[in-house]
Amino acid sequence: MENKYKYVLSLFNQIYHLETTAYELSYGIDEKSKIQIKKGKVTFFDKHEEYNIRNVIWKEWNSVQIPFLFDERPDTEILTFSNGRVIINFDIIASSFFFLSSWQELSYNKGNDLCRFPFEASIQYKLKIIDKPIVNYYFEILKEAIERAYSIKLKVSLWQDKPFAAFISHDIDTCQSAWIQGSFRALLKGDIPSILKLLWLKTTGNDAWFNFDHILESERKDHIHSTFFFMSRKGKYGKFRNSDYNINNRKFRKVFDRIRENDSEVGLHGSLGTCNDLNRYQEDVRQLKFKITGNRFHFLEFDTHNTLEILEKSGIAFDSTLGFAEHYGFRNGICFPFFLYDVKNDKQSKILEIPLVLMDGTLQNTKYMNLGNDQIETRLNELVKEVKKFNGLITILWHNTHYSEYKYKGWGRIMEKIIRICTENDSLFLNGSEIVQKYGNMLSST
Ligand SMILES: [Zn+2]
Repeated sequence: MENKYKYVLSLFNQIYHLETTAYELSYGIDEKSKIQIKKGKVTFFDKHEEYNIRNVIWKEWNSVQIPFLFDERPDTEILTFSNGRVIINFDIIASSFFFLSSWQELSYNKGNDLCRFPFEASIQYKLKIIDKPIVNYYFEILKEAIERAYSIKLKVSLWQDKPFAAFISHDIDTCQSAWIQGSFRALLKGDIPSILKLLWLKTTGNDAWFNFDHILESERKDHIHSTFFFMSRKGKYGKFRNSDYNINNRKFRKVFDRIRENDSEVGLHGSLGTCNDLNRYQEDVRQLKFKITGNRFHFLEFDTHNTLEILEKSGIAFDSTLGFAEHYGFRNGICFPFFLYDVKNDKQSKILEIPLVLMDGTLQNTKYMNLGNDQIETRLNELVKEVKKFNGLITILWHNTHYSEYKYKGWGRIMEKIIRICTENDSLFLNGSEIVQKYGNMLSST
């Protein structure tokens, strides 16, 4: 458990910009350290087995019910104080590690179609805590213990002077098919003028979904640096589809230049089947013909047993796949970037995960949340408020197609609303590489 403990603590130190030696902490009650954390039933981590939610103990922390996963005594306070020492009576280390390491996904058989961990299989679904960054609540407990024991105030200083940050990202699956897909949708509605416009655009070489200038223009106005994830593979793969474009077509060179002129960046949208196939993934990387820093897998595929190694061997610095398609929120229980845990070698990896919190399809797809416009605004406000409460980071995925009036009418305006909520809450907008640099700097200075 020693490495797991160091891993959790190192993230806490990164977030609060602390040295490991800044406070005296013992994992396990040693009767002498200034802060002591009671150790729970950590033998759970000896095997990859499913967590039994009957073992959860709920306790109230700052008026919020928090689940503790590995403890026995529900009748004590979370924090107790004696002789200048603080005891944390619940194992916040083990519970944090459970979420951060994606431990619950190790025992889940992801099946043959898509390599995905479904929301309904998650503990967040079962305990109804997907909209709470639960690890940040555990960290609040440690933060308070340190503040009380040392009479100091800890604060997050990752985002310059801003109260939180937003990572705006775009997966480019489709940018040449508005004339087919949009026309089909228009045909169903009997909207002939739209069909004529789409066809005219196409014949003049401008598909309505090849709308990068439009996206960049709107982001420039709000000083947004974003990341565009492009795919290297075209066409069908099994039952599903990769992209509808050839990444080496000359017209993309200009697009990449424009993206970079905006201080935004180009990343790789790892194609289907690459999350557990190193050779296939590296072919994807080579197709891009320039150095990339970041990745997000198409359809949010991610194999907890193999993907990390593939990303490390391919020189990737950050990934932003880990979110749920079916529901917005916190798949790893945290609203901060964090280094993925290398379970095979029992240590922290070098891959920074910028966890995905919200994507367009989650709100729009009738199989997922399928929210109405008025509900969306309320929910988004709550979500941003929750991230801001911890001075964290919210990652948003908006496909280029969802900025268009064809097939996805109205979704561009919802994105405008999201940006407005972020700016009104004084967000800092960073692209993936800029976030990596922040964490790199934190690491070298601690
Ligand atoms: Zn995709």
